[in-house]
Amino acid sequence: MKSYIEIPEAQQLITGALPRLGAEEIACDVALGRLLASDLFARDNLPRFDNSSMDGFAVRRTEVAGASPESPVTLDLAGEIAAGGFPDDKWPTGACLRILTGAPVPQGADGVIPVEETSEVAGGRIRFTADLARTGDNLRATGQDVRIGDLLLEKGARITPPVLGLLAGQGITSLSVRKLPRVGFLATGNELVTADQDPGPGQIRNSNSPLIVSQFQAAGFPVRDLGVALDTPDALREALTVALADDTLDVLVSSGGVSMGRYDLVGDILAELGAEWIFHKIAQKPGKPLAFLKRGDKPIFGLPGNPVSSFMCTWYYVIPALKRMMGDARPDPLHLSARLTATIAAQPPRFFFARARTTLCDGVFRTEPVGLQESHALQSLTRANSFILLPATAGVLSVGTEVEVALFDTL
Ligand code: AMP
Ligand code: MG
Repeated sequence: MKSYIEIPEAQQLITGALPRLGAEEIACDVALGRLLASDLFARDNLPRFDNSSMDGFAVRRTEVAGASPESPVTLDLAGEIAAGGFPDDKWPTGACLRILTGAPVPQGADGVIPVEETSEVAGGRIRFTADLARTGDNLRATGQDVRIGDLLLEKGARITPPVLGLLAGQGITSLSVRKLPRVGFLATGNELVTADQDPGPGQIRNSNSPLIVSQFQAAGFPVRDLGVALDTPDALREALTVALADDTLDVLVSSGGVSMGRYDLVGDILAELGAEWIFHKIAQKPGKPLAFLKRGDKPIFGLPGNPVSSFMCTWYYVIPALKRMMGDARPDPLHLSARLTATIAAQPPRFFFARARTTLCDGVFRTEPVGLQESHALQSLTRANSFILLPATAGVLSVGTEVEVALFDTL
């Protein structure tokens, strides 16, 4: 009898159990990566005023008409307008004004002849070897990019560097964004010591805390390392009670203690503390023992202890869940289709996530499994950037077969 559920069902159950976080007003300088909570409308025109796109000379069209290298036109120079300056109203006929990129264009000017089409002649006069018909007007009109009242950014838009630049140009210094879920991570295991301790007989160093905590950090989520709990009921009860009661944590994630061993007590203790089981075990390799529970509004992920299982479950289930909680409409890892450069075999009856190196080569994505595929073997994961997604029924796939790949790092 099957004692586990399939991946799509697990994803649905997780999604259905997630609370939706509200909005908060924050300063733009801490808003990178957030999602906008409501539509945002333009408060100012961009450009704010008609200005020059070139260093050159502001002219009236008729006064330079026909200028060419063979028959140049010469005008008096009546002054200069630099960026940050403001044009003088009086501008005699038969004259031009020196103007620099970004400077406001004076009333009555039809355009700017670039400096490359000019030269200075005796008496400080300017000789033009082209007219506006040849050079174009080189003007940037008020509101050409954004007009006051325009929809500037849609609800749900991600705050990226270009967005922050645009907002600054609008004089917007704070924003209403969706809240970020805050995560607590607890490692469990009698065998664990920290990286700076010497393991005694039978002990191992705790890899999962830095591995998983930094996955949340890399995805932009605030995370608190809750340390390590021993595998005793008392130690787990104490650590989990504190974590569940902590209102500054929206999601609790643990590692270890969710398999079938005598000391795999995490789920039982959570249930004893009032958490409701949603599922235990998914038909996948690695990460089969994943446990998912909920207490009140707080989702709880019990990751398997093996580091690669922990990593895979965090990447494929937990981080997309956090993204959903903050309103991300496309929370899942990037999937693509790639051509196998080595053979690979499915692992029935489980869905197989094979750690792989995927590259883009001559316009084609190529992929191959890398190194040991066991769930404790962390070194090969450091050489991978993706998982090949192999359904249980895929059989043995030969070189050249197209497979589905999901990325956890850049190509
Ligand atoms: P468990 O799920 O607790 O049975 O753990 C499965 C395997 O993962 C065991 O070999 C553990 O020693 C190992 N393991 C559990 N937690 C960690 C951790 N934080 N760092 C490295 N290995 C771990
Ligand atoms: Mg354990």
